[in-house]
Amino acid sequence: AVLGGKGGVGKSTLAVNLALTLAAMGLRVGLLDGDLNGPDIPHLLGISPRERPVPSRFRRVLGERTSRRRPEERYGIEVVSVGLEVPERFPPVISSRWLVGSLLRGFIFDVDWTAGVLVIDAPPGTGEELQVLAGELPLSGCIFITTPQDLAQMDAERTLTLMTRHGVQVIGVVQNMASLTCPHCEREIDLYGLSTRLADAGVPVLGKIPFDVQLSVGADQGRPLVLGDPREPIAYQFALI
Ligand code: ADP
Repeated sequence: AVLGGKGGVGKSTLAVNLALTLAAMGLRVGLLDGDLNGPDIPHLLGISPRERPVPSRFRRVLGERTSRRRPEERYGIEVVSVGLEVPERFPPVISSRWLVGSLLRGFIFDVDWTAGVLVIDAPPGTGEELQVLAGELPLSGCIFITTPQDLAQMDAERTLTLMTRHGVQVIGVVQNMASLTCPHCEREIDLYGLSTRLADAGVPVLGKIPFDVQLSVGADQGRPLVLGDPREPIAYQFALI
């Protein structure tokens, strides 16, 4: 699972690029959008939601299963997201523990994945989805992503405590958007502070992704950065991670 604690720190960006990098390395990869109420994965992969009535689709996930559903396929990976089922402007409002648990379990165990590795993009905070992921599902590990802003690291620490309490293995932390290279003078510009709460807590640093407009602009076009030149420095960072 890819976790951050705070919103907007780059979880979905990492989950998507990591899934595609693992696939490029020859693994059969699935990507599960664990952010049930803020599903961004379809947009990042350039997939539009299906034009079907919402309630019947949810009912299929929750109960009336006759055969296992195949995940969506995109860029060689398997994808499941609430965002594939609901129109973009529709707020899902999936709040009860029962519904969150049923949906996440359904997405993992009742979908006909062929993937050997499942990357889960987790929502921010320590709410129901995180409680279910940490407490009820057999996660093999979690990767954190944060900016070096103390506020972001503080939120990540909270999620870290939740994960360690449930005995989930913490693989490491990715530092995101710490700096950007000035396009005019090529100097490094620091964007946040230099908080290192997670590293201080003993979480290994797996890599550093600078701020790069290619990542955000490409994301809005549904073209994740790693699908471009694999020797490009940021794509290489994802490969190292
Ligand atoms: P989260 O899943 O944690 O909410 P996102 O992955 O959606 O965060 O990232 C938040 C925004 O920041 C998105 O618009 C994304 O394209 C952008 N972004 C993330 N990482 C970078 C980066 N290293 N450089 C530039 N933009 C980034």
